[in-house]
Amino acid sequence: MEYSDHFTYRQDELHAEDCSVADLAAKYGTPLYVYSRSSLEGAFREYDDNLRIPHRICYAVKANSSLAVLQLMASLGAGFDIVSVGELARVIQAGGDPGRVVYSGVGKREDEIRFALEQGIYCFNVESAPELERISQVASSMGATAPVAVRVNPNVDPKTHPYISTGLKKNKFGVPVEEAYELYRRAGELPGIRVTGIDCHIGSQMTTTGPLMEALETLVTMAGRLKADHPHLDHLDIGGGLGINYRDENCVSAAAYMESLNSRLASLGLTVLVEPGRSLVGNAGILVTRVEYVKKGAETDFAVVDAGMNDMIRPALYEAWMAIAPVRRGAAPVRHCSVVGPICESGDFLGLDRELEVKAGDLLVQFSAGAYGFSMSSNYNSRPRAAEVMVYGDQEQLIRSRETLDDLWRHEILLSGVSAG
Ligand SMILES: *Cc1c(COP(=O)(O)O)cnc(C)c1O
Repeated sequence: MEYSDHFTYRQDELHAEDCSVADLAAKYGTPLYVYSRSSLEGAFREYDDNLRIPHRICYAVKANSSLAVLQLMASLGAGFDIVSVGELARVIQAGGDPGRVVYSGVGKREDEIRFALEQGIYCFNVESAPELERISQVASSMGATAPVAVRVNPNVDPKTHPYISTGLKKNKFGVPVEEAYELYRRAGELPGIRVTGIDCHIGSQMTTTGPLMEALETLVTMAGRLKADHPHLDHLDIGGGLGINYRDENCVSAAAYMESLNSRLASLGLTVLVEPGRSLVGNAGILVTRVEYVKKGAETDFAVVDAGMNDMIRPALYEAWMAIAPVRRGAAPVRHCSVVGPICESGDFLGLDRELEVKAGDLLVQFSAGAYGFSMSSNYNSRPRAAEVMVYGDQEQLIRSRETLDDLWRHEILLSGVSAG
């Protein structure tokens, strides 16, 4: 199976666009993230071209926050969905326009709200009553007006992994519909607040549009009721959450999803915001790793590779299944094995119980690694984080150099007055 038109085998050698993945690994080392620029552009355009009502595609930065990715998104006309000041700073550093940024997240600090107001962001997606009061206070103290939407929790089951469900009553995100009306009323009387939108995001890796369209109905009803009291209401933010094919999910396409929005929302007279993350970057990236050892196990053999859960935590955190394949086909016998990393945790695996052509020294690739891969990586077990490369046709460019050992303790300070024994 091939996960993108841009990662294909030619004479049994995996290529990222027109670049040999083995050559990239030789040049930049492993573990290595490789992204396809054409794939990123194609995924963005699939949203942008198929939504034919006034809209903005606000890329969810947390899925892959590398500057070059943000820069590319900005060049395509994307807005951004952020969840911290760090992400806002990244957007600005990459040349993105803060005026196209929506700010989500349940824990916005006072200094973060102030910084976002100074930068003139497009909208705050408010997640609670105390947050609304805080935004009002901060904005008033600055003589500013904060554009806000309330994040509504429509109590829709996205039918996805519990850790990535956000739109159920029991989740910490947003506010229930009835409470949202009350919050809008309060927003109307608070100083420093202008109501400009309605917001919702119910979860991630949704393979059908059913839950998304169900949530949408709630938003449309609310828009009808809120319009009269809130003359500045100008947009509907329907969140992200569209899934990708990791295996055989047969996910609905972004094009089909956008097509279903056109007819439903055309008469509303509001700008539509979409906040896709995974579906823009997920299948635009791969993780390349080298097999250090093939180890005999009691029940299954292990391919011990040089990428660990610090590089890619999705299998450990979400029990996610991600495809793994050899970079060169036909070079080794097929073996039943689990692909595990070097980290001292039993949850440290890229994939369990696979039939793989594998031998020590070979390169393997994990597909669908562009989203929630590098952006969730860490230095656990004191492992420098991987390098990242972007390819475009036969061109390649390093977009993040591999961390060095010095990077591991860059911010650390030894105790004074303690000397070696
Ligand atoms: C994570 C997140 C997104 C993006 O979700 P995907 O499933 O990656 O599309 C969008 N909006 C908000 C508020 C998020 O937290």
